[in-house]
Amino acid sequence: MYSKKSLALFDIDYTLFDTQSFKDSGFLKYKLYKEVKDVLEKISGLAEVGIFSEGDDNFQREKLKKTLIDAQFDKEKVHIFLNKEDNIDWVLKKYRAFNIFLVDDKLNFLQLAKNINERVFVIWIKRGPYAENQKEISGFKPDATVNNLMEAAEIVRKKNN
Ligand SMILES: [Mg+2]
Repeated sequence: MYSKKSLALFDIDYTLFDTQSFKDSGFLKYKLYKEVKDVLEKISGLAEVGIFSEGDDNFQREKLKKTLIDAQFDKEKVHIFLNKEDNIDWVLKKYRAFNIFLVDDKLNFLQLAKNINERVFVIWIKRGPYAENQKEISGFKPDATVNNLMEAAEIVRKKNN
């Protein structure tokens, strides 16, 4: 049960965006994982939604635009950095008034977030090459591990009840 507002921060590559299809198509086919639109709709009724992604700002924004989900995010809550590890501290501080859910396919990044602020609820979306090749990290377990983002939406819903 949370009294504060919640904020779900999503990574882009291999989390919302099917980066493998994009690469396989020679960077022509902009595609989301199939549950993403429903998930964003569901979560936006429960929490604010934002982006916390790595990469070139324009290139990443293009992925949101071409898949028609850019309007789902409050512009001020779209954070894209060349190196997000360098900016995690700042972003988590900025949203300290929120219950933060952080959704990412990179386990080591979730660990870093958790080390900075243990109250952040970290959700590992286990898909894509990083997740598939990820070895266990001793002493660290994400708060939730999901194979489909619908499970993440369900977690946010339960935590907000
Ligand atoms: Mg990713």
